Amino acid sequence: MIDNHIEKAAQIIRNGGLVAFPTETVYGLGANALNPIAVAKIFELKERPSFDPLIVHIASIDNLKTLTQNVDKNVIRLTEKFWPGPLTIVLPKSKIVPDIVTSGLNTVGIRMPDNEIALKLIRAANCPIAAPSANKFGNLSPVSAEHVRKQLPNVESILDGGNTSVGIESTIVSIDGNVCTLLRPGVITISDIENALPNTFVFNAEKPDKLIAPGLLKSHYSPVKPLYIFDKQAMNLPESSGLIAHGKKDFIPTASKIIYTSKTFNYLEIAANLFSALHAMEDDENIKQIFIEPVPELGLGLAIMDRIKKAAYKYQ
Ligand code: AMP
Ligand code: MG
Repeated sequence: MIDNHIEKAAQIIRNGGLVAFPTETVYGLGANALNPIAVAKIFELKERPSFDPLIVHIASIDNLKTLTQNVDKNVIRLTEKFWPGPLTIVLPKSKIVPDIVTSGLNTVGIRMPDNEIALKLIRAANCPIAAPSANKFGNLSPVSAEHVRKQLPNVESILDGGNTSVGIESTIVSIDGNVCTLLRPGVITISDIENALPNTFVFNAEKPDKLIAPGLLKSHYSPVKPLYIFDKQAMNLPESSGLIAHGKKDFIPTASKIIYTSKTFNYLEIAANLFSALHAMEDDENIKQIFIEPVPELGLGLAIMDRIKKAAYKYQ
């Protein structure tokens, strides 16, 4: 049945339309990456500013070579170690990649997703698929088909693959010879990259002078209700507060609703359930504001706190 849906969705992509589909990170809103008119529809539907480039999704390593330049030993090592998986690699683009995909940059971000539906769709469409997250720009990322429907009710086709397994967006790195720069943290951490590339310098572009990746915008992925990072000193939460916590604690303040992303403070579980918890609080009409417990910024905690801080930034 799903194969049937995939074939129809692939036809929509081939005809220049848009399809929302699951990946292991979040749901993507995809178009034929080589068709600039189709890609323009993504920006229109998402209300995404044109300065924010898209990630191109591929199903075969051969596509990496046609879409980019400088595929050297280090790049191959990263793809062998982490693809298919939640790692986007930014490289100089080849001529066939339309400027609208990269917002005029001479580099392009490429990823091979670790999700059977996504891979089958790309193969059936027979083209690379440009896909940002399937949400309105700046809002919460979608980790289920329902989340996509909530924000983009007019999308032509949504492939439903259930809840995504990783739950936060891919790690993004750029690579230039033996210098690798982390542009956006994700479940693949700096130490994972360092271990894969022993003779390479790995930098964290946390505080860039200029905007390298709009994923580094201070405010992003926000719920429509105020979100505050929970201050342990604040013993009492205001009325109609929702609290998102990550593990059973001795002390948990009284809240109208509490959602645990994990019972044991397990980082992989927290990442996988973070956006679902925020969506559930956003959808609950009895909740006026949301509080969320912070996590230590170590390992995967860096990526989790990155998403939490960005989601809360505009409500500070
Ligand atoms: P989204 O899929 O909505 O999470 O957005 C994709 C992210 O990838 C954005 O934050 C982009 O800035 C980043 N990105 C895509 N292409 C590039 C590139 N060529 N250079 C730097 N960042 C990129
Ligand atoms: Mg996004």
